[in-house]
Amino acid sequence: MRITMLGTGTSQGIPMIGCPCEVCQSSDPRDKRLRPAIHIEVAGLSLVVDIGPDFRQQMLRANITDIDAILVTHEHNDHIAGLDDVRPYNFLRNKNMPVYGLNRVGEALKQRFPYIFQVTNKYPGAPCVDFHAINEHTPFTIKNTIIQPIAVMHGKLPILGFRINDFAYLTDVHHIEAGEFSKLQNLDTLILSALHHRPHHSHMTLEEALATIDVIRPKTTYLMHMSHLMGLHAEISQMLPENVFFGYDGLVIDSR
Ligand SMILES: [Zn+2]
Ligand SMILES: [Zn+2]
Ligand SMILES: [Zn+2]
Repeated sequence: MRITMLGTGTSQGIPMIGCPCEVCQSSDPRDKRLRPAIHIEVAGLSLVVDIGPDFRQQMLRANITDIDAILVTHEHNDHIAGLDDVRPYNFLRNKNMPVYGLNRVGEALKQRFPYIFQVTNKYPGAPCVDFHAINEHTPFTIKNTIIQPIAVMHGKLPILGFRINDFAYLTDVHHIEAGEFSKLQNLDTLILSALHHRPHHSHMTLEEALATIDVIRPKTTYLMHMSHLMGLHAEISQMLPENVFFGYDGLVIDSR
């Protein structure tokens, strides 16, 4: 399977509008981070996880011309705001876009995008989405690929991560309840969020992320969802232990 990191920044992206800091002003392309999303290609399946405000730009940049389904980790704006831009896929495939997420996330999408889910007198050309409610207990299948949802805590908000084969994607993690670690054994590749260096009510610091990696022990880990306070990619990368890397937008990862 092949994973492309489409966005590795936190909710405001990097650069942050108007910020004069050295990270936001950096000319290193690895310091330019769109809002969080990944693309997964596995067994003929094309999946995108999260559909934030940069979705359109991400699809164009990575030239993703076909998507079988979108998985949503949670309902924060940096993970759903781009839902309107599924329209080209509706038109190209002449079918609704399947979107998978917690029931609570489906309700939030209906509130935030009422015109998408309107049943009568729907505006012609509005996005067409089929929402599928999933939960952390039950693996689900898309075209023969089994997807295992993983419950993670985003502060007080329970959200989902996903495991496919020996790859797992956990974003917006503050902590993981003990019972969920059994789903994270023998990972080849882990993508994990780490915000910056100061404690935060809903995100792990770099230090907390590294401690979590020590428990999970994946073969390789890529960090993402970082803010400009994390520091320059080129400098901060030097501090990481073996087999742990900072992700960056456009990075392509082959996994088992
Ligand atoms: Zn900045
Ligand atoms: Zn969030
Ligand atoms: Zn987020």
